[in-house]
Amino acid sequence: MSAVPVEQLDELQAYAAATAACTRCRLAEGRTQVVFGAGNPRADLMFVGEAPGFHEDKNGVPFVGQAGKLLDGLLAGVGLERNDVYIANVLKCRPPGNRDPQADEIESCEPHLFRQIELIEPKVIATLGNFATKLLSGRPLGITRVHGQEQELTIAGRSVVLYPLYHPAAALYTPAMLKVLEADFARLPAILGAETNLPAPVVELVPEPALAAPAEQLGLF
Ligand code: URA
Repeated sequence: MSAVPVEQLDELQAYAAATAACTRCRLAEGRTQVVFGAGNPRADLMFVGEAPGFHEDKNGVPFVGQAGKLLDGLLAGVGLERNDVYIANVLKCRPPGNRDPQADEIESCEPHLFRQIELIEPKVIATLGNFATKLLSGRPLGITRVHGQEQELTIAGRSVVLYPLYHPAAALYTPAMLKVLEADFARLPAILGAETNLPAPVVELVPEPALAAPAEQLGLF
């Protein structure tokens, strides 16, 4: 877990509270509530999905529907729980009928995501699906091309590892995609380990004290 200072966590809470009243785009009209994000605000690993669906809009928590259950299972498979990570979406409000996010909605909402990243300071961001991957990589390459390929990037002013993954909703009914998603997920602990391992402490080498008697006499050989 990162050492995010308490004031920064207070700021995240305050930012979430302010975002609850957001009217930056048309999605404010149809939502039940803003789904800001959930999990451990000190997490080293942050997931970014697409947008809340029906259940998320009702509950105010990301990934609580079918795709969320699959995500829980994938996390458990690598020894993680929801409370070990932070989960958010590109859009904080549900698009009507779960349609794709539109470009102007992403543009209106992205400052919320970038501020979240700034305050949480994750070391690894796993993007789930095309929308999050394209937004955070800043490149138009689709998820089929880039899934499972980590890349070091500067996001919200900090160096992070971006790790694109298939969206769990896409894998729900496509066994072949689920296999790929599981394989990509299996690499997460190593990627996270490489980012969170502190450099080995510097050990001072002290010369061996000179033996008072030849080694043979001390019974060492
Ligand atoms: N799909 C997403 O991208 N996000 C959610 O929160 C739920 C489903």
